[in-house]
Amino acid sequence: MNVTELAQKLIQFDTITPKGSECLDFIQNYLTDLGFEVTRLPFADVDNLFARKGKNSPHLMYVGHVDVVPTGDGWKHPPFAGTIEDGVLYGRGTVDMKGSIAAFLAALKKYQSNGSISILLTSDEEGPAKNGVVKIIPWLQENNQIPDYALVGEPTSVNQVADTIKNGRRGSISFDITVLGKQGHVAYPQLADNAATPLIEFLNNLKTSLDDGTPDFQPSNLEIVKLNMPNQTYNVICGIAHASVNIRFNTLHSFASLTERIQLAMQKIHEKYQSICFLIKPSQSAEPFISSSAEWVVMVSKAVAEITGISPTCSTSGGTSDARFIQKICPVVELGLCNKTAHHVDEHVSIADLENLQKIYENLLDNLN
Ligand SMILES: [Zn+2]
Repeated sequence: MNVTELAQKLIQFDTITPKGSECLDFIQNYLTDLGFEVTRLPFADVDNLFARKGKNSPHLMYVGHVDVVPTGDGWKHPPFAGTIEDGVLYGRGTVDMKGSIAAFLAALKKYQSNGSISILLTSDEEGPAKNGVVKIIPWLQENNQIPDYALVGEPTSVNQVADTIKNGRRGSISFDITVLGKQGHVAYPQLADNAATPLIEFLNNLKTSLDDGTPDFQPSNLEIVKLNMPNQTYNVICGIAHASVNIRFNTLHSFASLTERIQLAMQKIHEKYQSICFLIKPSQSAEPFISSSAEWVVMVSKAVAEITGISPTCSTSGGTSDARFIQKICPVVELGLCNKTAHHVDEHVSIADLENLQKIYENLLDNLN
């Protein structure tokens, strides 16, 4: 099977999170034929796969997910058909990230080495990410399977394959805040406390005081994702206001330091307005990181430049990925297809992009020797 046929085959499995077992069965057979030792690592309703060939260093681990986000409506071709039209493969997961998995599987056919290669695949990346990579890491540690380098196949490219790699990622924190004031008549504001006034000031203070960025990261950013006052009319000052907030942050902050900053900002508002603020526990956190090995970033960049003629841009932008877990055990770089259609209706990839990514992965494997 060539890279296109492999990608098509993977897309034909409906693997909306957490479904992934049948797709992993197919990959297990493929890897077993290539001489890999395969272990399945199910946790709750999530199936995971770890496979390794060779025992020596350097040990490179490829990390990916077979699960995909729901399809949405209005597809030009059925999302799990793997239709090819005019040199373009359509389907849910083509770029995020079955196309990358197919490119790596195809690249393995040529691989000859004194070192070793492993593959870690989960079906819980797009969902809660509680029974995938995060649970496999202790297993890797206990079983002496910690790699020297990790490559995550997320779609990092922007306009052409491998124009951008990720050498780190921002952190993420979400929280809800409720402010209690005092309801009253709009015409007699001195007898009421509008809950919106302190809430807006709190959000504004926090948004404008984060940072100006670092050489590796863009400035941290706060976005208000929900704002709500349960008011029915124009002549009532509302005594309660809620906001839901997400902050994407760089290495100048941590989950703990931001939680403290939020609490301090609340305290200031309380001192000024005497309003009572409730902070609902900050959640969904990911800490920011930068790849712990400049050498690994250079190795990946070189493998790209030798094939495409262009050195990739190193970026830390975008959302979170399983790299946030992997970076705790080894240096990690992310390199995959173009992300323009990831999670969109009509997600697609050109056959040329798949073939180029296969060549880059092949080159990276060659250079490891
Ligand atoms: Zn992904």
